[in-house]
Amino acid sequence: MKTIITFLSLVIGLTFCFSQNPLQEPNGGEYTFNPSQEPCVTDQQRTFIEDETSNGIELLRSQNRLAYNNTNRGTHPLFIWPVQKASHVDYNEIWGISNYVDHDATAPNSLLDYNCGTRTYDTTSGYNHRGLDVYIWPFSWYAMDNDQVEIIAGAPGQIIAKSDGNFDRSCDFNTTTPWNAVYIQHSDGSIAWYGHLKNGSLTTKNIGDMVSEGEFLGIMGSSGVSTGPHLHFEVWTDATYTQLVDPYSGTCNSMNTETWWQSQRPYNSPGINAVLTHSASPVFPNCPTSETTNIKNQFDLNETVTHFIYLRDQVAGTIVNLRVIRPDNTDLYNWDFNLTNNYYSSYWGGWTSIANIAGEWKWEATYNGETVTHSYNVGALSIEDETLETTSVYPNPTKDVLNIDTTIKITSATIIDVTGKSILEISNQNSSGIESIDLTNISKGLYFLSLNGESGESEVHRFIKN
Ligand SMILES: [Zn+2]
Repeated sequence: MKTIITFLSLVIGLTFCFSQNPLQEPNGGEYTFNPSQEPCVTDQQRTFIEDETSNGIELLRSQNRLAYNNTNRGTHPLFIWPVQKASHVDYNEIWGISNYVDHDATAPNSLLDYNCGTRTYDTTSGYNHRGLDVYIWPFSWYAMDNDQVEIIAGAPGQIIAKSDGNFDRSCDFNTTTPWNAVYIQHSDGSIAWYGHLKNGSLTTKNIGDMVSEGEFLGIMGSSGVSTGPHLHFEVWTDATYTQLVDPYSGTCNSMNTETWWQSQRPYNSPGINAVLTHSASPVFPNCPTSETTNIKNQFDLNETVTHFIYLRDQVAGTIVNLRVIRPDNTDLYNWDFNLTNNYYSSYWGGWTSIANIAGEWKWEATYNGETVTHSYNVGALSIEDETLETTSVYPNPTKDVLNIDTTIKITSATIIDVTGKSILEISNQNSSGIESIDLTNISKGLYFLSLNGESGESEVHRFIKN
């Protein structure tokens, strides 16, 4: 191990230079969701939904399948957050809040959310926003296309209606197409709407089936009256639709005094949604074209790395600390970035660096007490693969032969030097696979050995040839 550190120090020493921050002025700014403030549900659609859910309830009642018992209502549900990132997403977080319920009954231009702020909307037609809107950030269309954001049941209950099969790339309110949605009735008779879901993504459960808290309902989409992928979450005390619920408790909540959340989130929650590296700046085309993310985590030696951060609820006058960290844990850059505006979602970056050392680099942001670290790799070493450790190589260091001890069949192996250059490739489809490698013709030094198994497994080891 000591030998490895000494060798890496030598490599780093050759390229070492001091710098506090990259010289580029950042690209970026605010990402505005629903800038035109369109209603999520038209009056016509609302009437249809009320009929649809009431009919569902009546049908289940007539079949003696209705779970809700009028004589034993119980207490109102306590919701968990109805949005989660899919397990394959490695962002820190992937949503922002655009609108709360509007408690001011006059419209237009009379806004009052539960916290006595104006994070809501109304329209000239007299609509006051009746739900919570949660949108995707960053890369909303890309995320929708790749099923990155899941809508889950905030509380257990019974599906009383669902609609699917509707167009899901709406960009404005000029549509009569209904949304895709799931409607759930809880044990106290209250009803939650989960709307704007992606076409064809809904749970296979049917009307009458029970769902548990946190159960998958669908993928966030932009069906119905929508300007981009988001969830409209709306809650009523019962199917008469006379009493709306705002799940948040707050001074200006005129509907209910208690919170309906298990753990009510703060009104503003400044934080880091993603810290990413790219081949070039990401491209945000007009709705509904998917973003070109240009996300890249594997770079060749001396390639240019482009760094961005994606924030939610950034607060004017606060600071994000940013670091680009070399494989030996020294800082290439370490600086404070000043935020001068209040934005619900924002992106900042375009800062570049040259990946001049092979190994695992880090791009790190600290904001509002939270640090998010993104690792990226330079040269042929794979960060993820290195952690599998189902295989060992010995002896290490070695003089002439490297033996491979493994439970899987190794079908190909590549030796890579510290500059990322491949210097030896071996493949073997025999029943035993590759069990040892002859290093006689390889110079002394530090190398990476990339191993691939017959079922697509891959792993990387470091070794020293003496
Ligand atoms: Zn809405």
